[in-house]
Amino acid sequence: MQRITILGATGSIGVSTLDVIARHPDRYSVYALTAHSRVEELAAQCIQFRPARAVVGSAAGAEQLAALLRAAGCRTEVEWGEAALCAVSAAADTDAVMAAIVGAAGLAPTLAAARAGKKVMLANKEALVMSGQLFMDAVAASGAVLLPIDSEHNAIFQCLPQHYGRAPAAAGVTKVLLTASGGPFLKRDVATLENVTPDEACKHPKWVMGRKISVDSATMMNKGLEVIEAHWLFGASAEQIEVVIHPQSVVHSMVSYNDGSVLAELGNPDMRTPIAHALAYPERIASGVAQLDLTQVGTLQFEKPDFARFPCLALAFDALRAGGTAPALLNAANEVAVQAFLDERIGFRRIDRVIAQVMDELPHGAASSIEAVMAQDALARSAAERIISG
Ligand code: NDP
Ligand code: MG
Repeated sequence: MQRITILGATGSIGVSTLDVIARHPDRYSVYALTAHSRVEELAAQCIQFRPARAVVGSAAGAEQLAALLRAAGCRTEVEWGEAALCAVSAAADTDAVMAAIVGAAGLAPTLAAARAGKKVMLANKEALVMSGQLFMDAVAASGAVLLPIDSEHNAIFQCLPQHYGRAPAAAGVTKVLLTASGGPFLKRDVATLENVTPDEACKHPKWVMGRKISVDSATMMNKGLEVIEAHWLFGASAEQIEVVIHPQSVVHSMVSYNDGSVLAELGNPDMRTPIAHALAYPERIASGVAQLDLTQVGTLQFEKPDFARFPCLALAFDALRAGGTAPALLNAANEVAVQAFLDERIGFRRIDRVIAQVMDELPHGAASSIEAVMAQDALARSAAERIISG
């Protein structure tokens, strides 16, 4: 029986994870569930899955949750705040942690799981973007098992020979090919992008996801963050990572080898596939996802990305090449700009401009410690906020 902690249980990935777990009560039990503000949703999950512990974002939320659980006769212990998130990630009674909090808020608890040597199922790409070296060092030092949930990285993981670890060139790997759907604005007239609404940006043609990552998909910053994520997970340089637009989202990513082979992982676009893969690895379990019928798909298309249409993709490659805390600055500026867009304070086309201005203004340093990374994160957030309000 694997005992699982789900960070971000009420989100899109969290709910899909519980869906897979519920199909295999003989293999998995839930140790802890966490949410930020959706207390009623978390209460319903606790009543169904009976975890030992639950964590929310505030004291008031914890009081509300405790009352709901008491009324239902559910004995889950209720806690709140970042220290509690880290505690349920590192607890001796949990074997595996699904890291599915959105944004920089996920860094501390995800790192706590890595330092404690857990099996870490990583959806929270922002943690790796901000502090890739520190994170990978923590994984190596503790012997944690790191499994990618992001569909592209999970696909690449499946297409790489496992015994070569993070030295793909030694295995004959020439390129990692990250596929991208291109999001809702792939073909839209660029001149009309200034006036798109948050709901239009969040209407992804292939995947149902949380609002932040949906906007990231529309700007293609999501792919940019994934380029940086691939660099850390697989030890691939910026030159070894290529982005390929593939609107059908059936090929989840590919790896090319020096003998001319290209390996790909295909499937219907449903996050329960990579979640089930990571939960059961190295075994396989049913995920609830229908088998892919290629005769129904018919055509698979691939094209090069247009960096002028998607400036965020170029900004992310620049940040990866700059190294140090540059990706942390990029990530923080992006989080603030995306939130401002979702709050209708700035137009869609200002997202990339805010990020570019923050990157121009702030010198990046060495990502020598989590404290150094968090200090740069805070600087980038206030610079972005000043640019947006000014
Ligand atoms: P959602 O917005 O749907 O869910 C986010 C979860 O994090 C919720 O449980 C939310 O709690 C919690 N949360 C939000 N803010 C905080 C905070 N400050 N402190 C603690 N918890 C917080 O996001 P997704 O599930 O879409 O994405 C989660 C992560 O997975 C992201 O990093 C994303 O990039 C990555 N990912 C997602 C994919 C997808 O298909 N959705 C695909 C690949 C990667 P509450 O509900 O209470 O607000
Ligand atoms: Mg992805």
